Amino acid sequence: MSTPTLNTSKSSSVNAFFLSDFLSSFFLTELFKGMRLTGKYAFKSKITLEYPEEKTPLSPRFRGLHALRRYETGEERCIACKLCEAVCPAMAITIESEERADGSRRTTRYDIDLTKCIFCGFCEESCPVDSIVETNILEYHGEERGDLYFTKEMLLAVGDRYEPQIAASKLADAKYR
Ligand code: SF4
Ligand code: SF4
Repeated sequence: MSTPTLNTSKSSSVNAFFLSDFLSSFFLTELFKGMRLTGKYAFKSKITLEYPEEKTPLSPRFRGLHALRRYETGEERCIACKLCEAVCPAMAITIESEERADGSRRTTRYDIDLTKCIFCGFCEESCPVDSIVETNILEYHGEERGDLYFTKEMLLAVGDRYEPQIAASKLADAKYR
C-alpha cells in the first residue's frame, strides 16, 4: 500500500517543478534578473584596463622571464653549484662547468628551455648567490621552439639590462624572507 503513496508524492513535486519553470519562463524572470545585474554595475567605476597602455601592478615575487645576474664588478654571480639544475622539476636547466685558472668554478654552459619551464621559482629559491632569478618581464614570445631556448649569454644579457629592476624587487621582498 505504501508504493502508490510514494509515486504520488514524487509526481506532485515533478509537476510543481515544471509549473515553476514554466512561470519563470513566461514572466521572463531570468531576463529581468540579468538586466537588474547589468543596471547595478552600469554606472559604477570601471576596473577594466586598456592593456597594454595600462597595466596592473606586479608583485616583487612575480615569476617571469629568467635572468642571470652579475656582481657590480661585472663578475658572474653563478658559482656552478648546480643546485638549480638539481631542483628544477621540469628538468629545464642544463649546466656545464669548469675550474678557472684562479681555482674558482664557473659555468661554461647554462641553458634554460622555457618551453619546459613551469615558472615554479624553485631555481631562484635554491640559488645561494642570487644568480638565477625570475624577473617581472612577461611580454616576450618566440615564433619558433628554439626562440625560447635561452643560453647563458642570453640570460646574462637579460640580467645586465634589467639589473636595477631585479635589485629593486629583491630589496622589496627582502623583509619577508
Ligand atoms: S622556474 Fe621552475 S621549472 Fe622553470 S627553470 Fe626554474 S626550477 Fe625549472
Ligand atoms: S644559478 Fe645559482 S643555483 Fe644555479 S648553478 Fe649558479 S649558483 Fe648554483
